[in-house]
Amino acid sequence: AGSLMLGSGEFCTNPGLVVAVDGPSGSGKSSVSREVANRLGLAYLDTGAMYRALTWWCLEASVDLDDEDAVASAANDFQLQMGTDPIVETIMVGGIDIREAIREARVTENVSAVAKNQKARDALIGRQRMEIVSNGRRIVAEGRDITTVVAPDASVRILLTASEEARMKRRGEQIGATGDEDRLKLEVAQRDAADSKVNNFTEAAGGVTLVDSTELDFDQTVQAVIDVIRTTTAQHHGEKS
Ligand code: C5P
Repeated sequence: AGSLMLGSGEFCTNPGLVVAVDGPSGSGKSSVSREVANRLGLAYLDTGAMYRALTWWCLEASVDLDDEDAVASAANDFQLQMGTDPIVETIMVGGIDIREAIREARVTENVSAVAKNQKARDALIGRQRMEIVSNGRRIVAEGRDITTVVAPDASVRILLTASEEARMKRRGEQIGATGDEDRLKLEVAQRDAADSKVNNFTEAAGGVTLVDSTELDFDQTVQAVIDVIRTTTAQHHGEKS
């Protein structure tokens, strides 16, 4: 377990600790961010799940994904309930549990088309900022634009990457389809190419720390992220005194 004392006196003048994590698909950012949040006693927000939930809802309600305004109003109005507990995942729309449905291929295939809709993004970004605030700004939030757009003033900003080969392999293990090259390319390379047109999540912006997990296992990656948090918050603490 972590040896940080983030809950106590060390941070009493500034109890907030927003950790922003961005990265491409298969970088491990969801599982790593969740575990970091768990160890440090922080909330956890999977913003990719929100884009997936909106995509699922649009498919379900037969909203034309090319109709920008229709998707945007769905983004504003759909009854999304997003949990921020790092252990118990809650993703519901209109009371329906969609944790599994949002990982299905039909959602993965269509999510980039929804995510490129700027009006829909603005609606989801508003909800994401509300989640960050309502958790007392003690949260790990991960996605593609958290370090740059959603929470550029986060205490800690990390870009988590890995070689494409490593990411394809990890995603393959996750979806249990190691042999299915086409599915993997859709899950990783194609989606990154589409998503890159909206946000740059392959190079670290100014003030963002790069963590390359290509040669690291899961635990080492979690530790590397915790090390960045420790170093960054220690620096800030030092600057103030
Ligand atoms: O992280 P995940 O792969 O679940 O994200 C699903 C999709 O949501 C991405 O492919 C991208 O299109 C979109 N996304 C985004 N901005 C974020 C998080 C995810 O555009 N902050």
